[in-house]
Amino acid sequence: MGKVLIIGAGGVGTVVAVKMAGLPEVFSEILLASRTKSKCDAIAARVGGNRIQTAQVDADNVPELVALINSFKPDLVVNVALPYQDLTIMDACLECGVSYLDTANYEPKDEAKFQYSWQWAYKERFEQAGLTAILGCGFDPGVTSVYTAYAAKHHFDEIQYLDIVDCNAGDHGKAFATNFNPEINIREVTQKGKYWENGQWVETEPHEIHQPLNYPDIGPKESYVIYHEELESLVKNFPTLKRARFWMTFGQEYLTHLRVIQNIGMARIDPIIYNGVEIVPIQFLKAVLPNPGDLGENYTGWTSIGCRIRGLKDGQEKTYYVYNNCSHQVAYDETGTQGVSYTTGVPAMIGAMMYLQGKWKKPGVYNVEEFNPDPFMDELNKHGLPWVELHNVDLEL
Ligand code: NDP
Repeated sequence: MGKVLIIGAGGVGTVVAVKMAGLPEVFSEILLASRTKSKCDAIAARVGGNRIQTAQVDADNVPELVALINSFKPDLVVNVALPYQDLTIMDACLECGVSYLDTANYEPKDEAKFQYSWQWAYKERFEQAGLTAILGCGFDPGVTSVYTAYAAKHHFDEIQYLDIVDCNAGDHGKAFATNFNPEINIREVTQKGKYWENGQWVETEPHEIHQPLNYPDIGPKESYVIYHEELESLVKNFPTLKRARFWMTFGQEYLTHLRVIQNIGMARIDPIIYNGVEIVPIQFLKAVLPNPGDLGENYTGWTSIGCRIRGLKDGQEKTYYVYNNCSHQVAYDETGTQGVSYTTGVPAMIGAMMYLQGKWKKPGVYNVEEFNPDPFMDELNKHGLPWVELHNVDLEL
């Protein structure tokens, strides 16, 4: 049905490629391109059957991207490289007349500040070109945003309180490792906390607000309010929200390592001179930490991510909890990667499917909650991320 170019061959790119390769009726031709071509070749070999073509590309370089896109002529570019590449890839898509999808919003390399304004600024250009840009189509952002849209559409007249709860109850057996790109991950979790309340953002110190929350089939886990990018678009698209927060679980061991990393300067994102060579400490740290893509083999346990929502239905207050639990081991057996890559890559594949099937296709730049959630929710059940709904339960929040 459609040709797709995947950019980025990390943990998430692996899952997207493997999942798309299994659906030839939707993804008739697949090109996987990344900075290091050998990684693309390894993924293609794993899939076999000449299903996946590969190429080398520097996605920071618009002319290189344009040449690649024009030679392959895809219907859609799926960006699962890093957030730093969002704008160059969007520029190249506009130049070539191709639609775009990603899983993380743009972040400049020299400032740990992610926000949608840079990508929303492309809205008119995508509209005028008749192209679609689908932003944030991983799990969070992505599925959590679709869950919210689904709840608002089917279960509430007005959603008022949203708590996105993200638990990784897995054990990879390492003293310290991050579950996705360490540089992006550490920048995200060490920043100040922020949540939405009564029409304004409330800022907190990093990890200041925390409490144990119970996760289904997992039990209680200490959970911390952090800022997460989907809050920005959700409070805009659901203006009835009085409060919106994002909670993530962290173990004490992880937090201790994080504190040490920060205290000794290894989380710095500004360049320093080492032996006459300029290096960025956090990039050096990434080079010595375990590769998230290699964590899968001995990873046990589950991720549990969902939305806890309170609001009004027929004049009555009601509560609703929708979530998915994903087994690291099952994800590894299917795709060779752990659960965090899996829970991101599967929704990216489904978003691409929605576009190619014409279900999520409209000129402009959109966050996923602005599309019809129903067909996406159906596909989650079919492709490894089934969801569970609980009505009128104690949300603990
Ligand atoms: P990885 O670091 O494992 O992979 C990133 C890939 O992008 C690597 O193959 C890397 O190449 C490639 N890349 C980096 N820079 C360039 C460049 N300039 N040109 C071409 N390719 C490049 O990251 P993950 O797979 O863990 O994460 C991928 C994306 O998914 C990130 O943007 C992350 O923020 C997002 N994400 C989203 C989540 C969600 O739920 N929404 C959750 C988790 C992640 P090389 O191999 O040479 O380094």
